[in-house]
Amino acid sequence: MTDTWVYSIPMRTRFRGITVREGVLVRGPVGWGDFCPFTEYSDAESAAWLATAVEQSSVGWPAPVRDRIPVNCTVPAVDPVRAHAIAAGSGCSTAKIKVADHPSALAEDVARVEAVRDALGPSGRIRVDANAVWDVETAVSSIRALDKAAGGLEYVEQPCRSLDELAAVRRQVDVPIAADESIRRASDPMQVAVAGAADIAVIKCTPLGGVRRALEVASACGLPCVVSSALETSVGLAAQLALAGALPSLDYACGLGTTSLLAGDVVASPFVPVDGYLPVPRTPPAPVFAFAAPPDRAAWWNARLTRVRG
Ligand SMILES: [Mg+2]
Repeated sequence: MTDTWVYSIPMRTRFRGITVREGVLVRGPVGWGDFCPFTEYSDAESAAWLATAVEQSSVGWPAPVRDRIPVNCTVPAVDPVRAHAIAAGSGCSTAKIKVADHPSALAEDVARVEAVRDALGPSGRIRVDANAVWDVETAVSSIRALDKAAGGLEYVEQPCRSLDELAAVRRQVDVPIAADESIRRASDPMQVAVAGAADIAVIKCTPLGGVRRALEVASACGLPCVVSSALETSVGLAAQLALAGALPSLDYACGLGTTSLLAGDVVASPFVPVDGYLPVPRTPPAPVFAFAAPPDRAAWWNARLTRVRG
């Protein structure tokens, strides 16, 4: 029996600049983990990703306090007709919409937000993600326009890059601010709250070193949390669901409905949201050893795994 399996799965649509998602499944006494740092990440940065795989394959996760997780659908920078179809077909009552895709995107963003509101109806929740590209002035005017188009935004994710900018925006708009990149890069996640920079924290356990470590970060930042994926297979996504299941409180839908971005999966029954929810697994799902990587990529990943294990 094999103890590692290198997979290579095409993306349905280009996302985060990648067209193929790769990683190594690693077997331990408890089950399988998913070692999947993005290819450009250093060995040092990848160590935390390995810790997540080791936790789930060798130790297991803390007990959950809930058994299912509400998830949002994700609407990329597409035209309004496509945006409406994605939101209406998702089964989710919360949508996360990508905005600020290019410098003069606001009119397109407004039309996309209006289309999604039409698809979700008045009770749906709409959040937007600007991925840190606005300056303060642009953020404030854009957020006001998008809030109006949405008939109320749930929150805006990472409108600007720095904590000072986030805090400045937060003082000028009524829409709550969520920190994503700021939490990931912070040496002390508490800084985000202390700086008055955000109302909500976006947390991912896969790059943080496991469910227990992510629970510490969530507690330390002192903000309500949204758990969000790092484009894992269902084996890796299981840890993120375990985190969402173990958070003491969960007030927002999570960004974990992402296996549909992959053209396939390494398990027989992938985590696909049903009526806007995913289950909280007690143990990692068993892989079916699909999507074998070509030999050169398998050799590259096995060498990386050996180096990061040290
Ligand atoms: Mg984000």
